[in-house]
Amino acid sequence: MTHLDVRFFDGQSSRPHAARLRVEEDALVIEPAAGEDFAPLVLARGDVRWPERTRHGGRIAQLPRGASVQALDVPAWDAWTAGLGHRDGWVVRAQQSWRGVLIAFVVLIAAAAAMYQWTLPWAARGMTALVPQRADALIGAQVLASLDDSLLLPSTLPAQDQARIREGFARMVRMAHPDDAPPWKLEFRRARDERLGPNALALPGGAIVLTDELVRLLPDNDDAVLGVLGHEFGHVRLRHAMRQLVQASAVGIVASAAFGDYGTLITSAPVLLATLGYSRDAEREADVESLRLMRIAGIPPRAMADFFEAIEQWQEARRGDQGGETDFLGLAFSSHPATAERIAFFRDASTP
Ligand SMILES: [Zn+2]
Repeated sequence: MTHLDVRFFDGQSSRPHAARLRVEEDALVIEPAAGEDFAPLVLARGDVRWPERTRHGGRIAQLPRGASVQALDVPAWDAWTAGLGHRDGWVVRAQQSWRGVLIAFVVLIAAAAAMYQWTLPWAARGMTALVPQRADALIGAQVLASLDDSLLLPSTLPAQDQARIREGFARMVRMAHPDDAPPWKLEFRRARDERLGPNALALPGGAIVLTDELVRLLPDNDDAVLGVLGHEFGHVRLRHAMRQLVQASAVGIVASAAFGDYGTLITSAPVLLATLGYSRDAEREADVESLRLMRIAGIPPRAMADFFEAIEQWQEARRGDQGGETDFLGLAFSSHPATAERIAFFRDASTP
């Protein structure tokens, strides 16, 4: 490779020396040009800080001990350093073109979207693990009290029916999770009006609210009721409601965790939970749990498919009646869209 003529500053005096750069294996050699008499300098290539290539301006490479070399002829410098295999960082090259700027912008938007789509749920999962279970129970009690004030009435389901369902569910959970079942509590309630109707709802902390209307939707069909409870148990076990809360109040919870104060989160939970819904992934996970519990208890999964259809019909009828919204309580069972995919999941599981 040919040499490059440069101006050399030795770092001692401000006087420039005429010099030539030459590369020898992995070393950069700075030799005096004709008429100069400094001792040639041999540097490891890693010791040279090459300048970023800008559209305008000169080129100065920094050397150890305050020395430097300066370009006499910028295009010649660029050509010579390019020949060295010295590459500009991709950032510099990207900054030099409008296309690069545009691509960077698009990547930024995509990253923000990806963060919202994936990173936030992922982070929420991690952050939920940091929230003490005690907070779940406090929030759950608060939410149940607020539901009792607004949407629920005491159950009128006969005690023996309640006992039978409770025992069936307890047996299912015991069989599926002999040692690792989270705490749960079945709460029988009657829907105050048509807004809730046949429904079930898992609250943070393990309370599962079951409405009389759901039990009566398919008469003498405990299988379907247990399937729905299995689904809600899935939400409890995976702390889905908490995860949704954390995600919806990501900033607040960081502050809560930092100050050990969950008060704000707890008081805003009922309002927040009323407007939230589960993600499709959460629904799928809960369905998988439901299927596992039904199978282990010997309940045909088909019962869930039948139930989805019954609830669909109930919603149709309601829409016809009053044209009201059916999904005002996002976390409630009947708000989850009974998609063909979910119905098929349980129906296909039934065919051997
Ligand atoms: Zn659900």
